[in-house]
Amino acid sequence: MTQQGDWRLTGQEDILSRATLVRKPYRAPSATWEHDHCEFCWAKFMDPNFSEEHRLYIETHPDVATEGFTTTDERANGADYYWICADCYADFADRFGWRVA
Ligand SMILES: [Zn+2]
Repeated sequence: MTQQGDWRLTGQEDILSRATLVRKPYRAPSATWEHDHCEFCWAKFMDPNFSEEHRLYIETHPDVATEGFTTTDERANGADYYWICADCYADFADRFGWRVA
């Protein structure tokens, strides 16, 4: 049950209301940008194929997500810019009116 005052809600309505999302594995966008965070709970997303260090880190940190829900190019900043973990997706999908492509 999600409460109105959930600590994870910090005004994401502006950027994520009624967004179309795609579920996919997280891939590092560039050589210098190799992780992201969930827009709600700040869970870390990492790409196990980025480096051996990343693969080992993910293996020893079960809280790190390797896949999740992300925005498409219909949104500001383009596809794969905003990431949402599976838990936050489940908790906020109705509230934000998300559609999964
Ligand atoms: Zn989350």
